[in-house]
Amino acid sequence: MTDRTGAEAAGAGSYRSGPQGVAMRALVEHTQMCEQCTDDVQQCATGRALVRTLRETARG
Ligand SMILES: [Zn+2]
Repeated sequence: MTDRTGAEAAGAGSYRSGPQGVAMRALVEHTQMCEQCTDDVQQCATGRALVRTLRETARG
């Protein structure tokens, strides 16, 4: 089961401008400058927190 279909149905615009978009940008920006996340996000406490936030916002 996934929530992706709902997010995609809402449109890419709302997906990026909403809380999930903010969480996603934060995760992307962090992983780009974090060696641990480049290797494996699960090894980084900050990366895990960002992924968790992203998943929670995805549930809406
Ligand atoms: Zn990290």
